[in-house]
Amino acid sequence: MAQLKRAVVIIIDDKVYELINPEITWESDEKQRVVEGCLSCPNKWGMVTRPMKVKFKAQNRKGEWYEMQAEELFAQCVCHELAHLEGHLFTEVVEEYVQVEDN
Ligand SMILES: [Zn+2]
Repeated sequence: MAQLKRAVVIIIDDKVYELINPEITWESDEKQRVVEGCLSCPNKWGMVTRPMKVKFKAQNRKGEWYEMQAEELFAQCVCHELAHLEGHLFTEVVEEYVQVEDN
């Protein structure tokens, strides 16, 4: 039986991506400076610098490896979530905290 130790699910625009044992294999020199928040840190938002694009490899739930390129928000999510797998939070890379209005 497969043993899953590192897995994240990312949902963007109603598309569901399952990343099992994911690893970033490439990141673009081009960066994006974006607002980020986290369910682990309620009501905290801050500016972070992430790569504009990343490539990653991961397994799907059948154990098959695939490789994919992510851009913009998807790339940001991959970086954020994979950092969690290593025990890191965005608060370690935040540049400044910002106020985000509840809507
Ligand atoms: Zn998070």
